[in-house]
Amino acid sequence: MPNSPDVVVIGGGIIGCSTAYQLVKRGMKVTVIERESVGCEASGVATGMISVMSIEDPGPFLDLARASFELYKTLAPELRDASGIDFYYGEASWLDLAFTEEEEEANRKAMSWKKDLVPRVTWLSDDDIRRVESRVSAQARSGVFFEGLAQVDAYRLTLAFTKAAESLGVVIRYAEATGLTTSGDRISGVATSTGDVGCDAVVLAMGAWSGLIEPWIGMPVPVEPLKGQILKLRAPGPPLVGNLHLGSFYVTPKLDGSILAGGYDSKVGFDKRARDEGTYRILGEVARICPPMQDAVLVEESTGLRPLTPDMIPILGPVPGLEGAFIATGHQRKGITLAAMTGKVMAQVVSGQDTELPIEAFSLARFGNGARIKGDE
Ligand SMILES: Cc1cc2nc3c(=O)[nH]c(=O)nc-3n(C[C@H](O)[C@H](O)[C@H](O)COP(=O)(O)OP(=O)(O)OC[C@H]3O[C@@H](n4cnc5c(N)ncnc54)[C@H](O)[C@@H]3O)c2cc1C
Repeated sequence: MPNSPDVVVIGGGIIGCSTAYQLVKRGMKVTVIERESVGCEASGVATGMISVMSIEDPGPFLDLARASFELYKTLAPELRDASGIDFYYGEASWLDLAFTEEEEEANRKAMSWKKDLVPRVTWLSDDDIRRVESRVSAQARSGVFFEGLAQVDAYRLTLAFTKAAESLGVVIRYAEATGLTTSGDRISGVATSTGDVGCDAVVLAMGAWSGLIEPWIGMPVPVEPLKGQILKLRAPGPPLVGNLHLGSFYVTPKLDGSILAGGYDSKVGFDKRARDEGTYRILGEVARICPPMQDAVLVEESTGLRPLTPDMIPILGPVPGLEGAFIATGHQRKGITLAAMTGKVMAQVVSGQDTELPIEAFSLARFGNGARIKGDE
């Protein structure tokens, strides 16, 4: 049909919006279908660290994350100009603290591989810590200080991808996608709560809900939600020196002057309710890490569902056996970091170009027909 898009992207999170932006830049006619609002799920609540430092094993996943980290250096100003939205892209630091001998040993081991992933890494004694950030608890016996990472406001970055994409002609349609329409083994459109949309190609970027498309494509997509709870705080005094970490808990300064704190995760399906237990636990850990923070004011609490795969590696590329169908999901804790390069390689594969990085390792086919996610909590 003359007015039909070439490509429909299902899901207005950061992965869908980044892909839509890169597709329209390649001359494709694109519609994004989002059931609620752009950035309303994980992409809108994420802490916004851009870093590769949690990826221990060399390989395609680390290469993708590194390439994405680098790409933001040119993409961030491009998006800011195209959208007019400041998403507070800037430098970030990270301080892994140890209060016990075991934590110190774990930090020492992690430093041995993390030092190759981060521009500047320094081992800090207890005295050094107080020099770097005087508000850290006296219980801290050592720390590892990582400098040269990056950060954004994740919600504003998602909006910037969207607005930049819209300025080039992408249409955002607010509806729930309910299935795919096909002609033989080819995609012919997307069925939605407000009618069918014809297209030649579809990109499935539905985050934690990606597992629900099994009946649409006739094969399992092993993605499960991992809920993360996050608090926005305000506190007097100058910004903290960086993201202060103890175990899974953290408190981090943002470039808009707010402070985010989190580290309380749970596997409870699609239940997005914030739990009091999580709120108290995060506030307690924040005060333990940084005692002056006990006077911080709780401004907002949110939760987000991260899309997890069994091997913790994203799923990117064509859907096997269904021509014109592509999938981009499973970015777990790293979707903001990975969004820049994910959008680019997805747009390349959909428009038939060679991808800048090999993406075979991310194929949905790697799970065969029945992978299940191991319960780890
Ligand atoms: C607390 C927390 C902190 C995090 N911190 C970081 C961080 O510091 N750095 C980092 O790199 N990553 C971080 N992440 C991870 C990151 O947020 C996710 O990996 C990323 O947002 C996933 O993006 P997405 O677009 O795949 O999913 P989502 O943002 O969840 O978007 C999916 C979209 O699809 C839509 N959708 C689903 N089904 C349908 C349908 N049938 N029809 C239409 N629309 C549909 C949803 O409404 C949603 O808008 C964090 C996550 C959480 C929860």
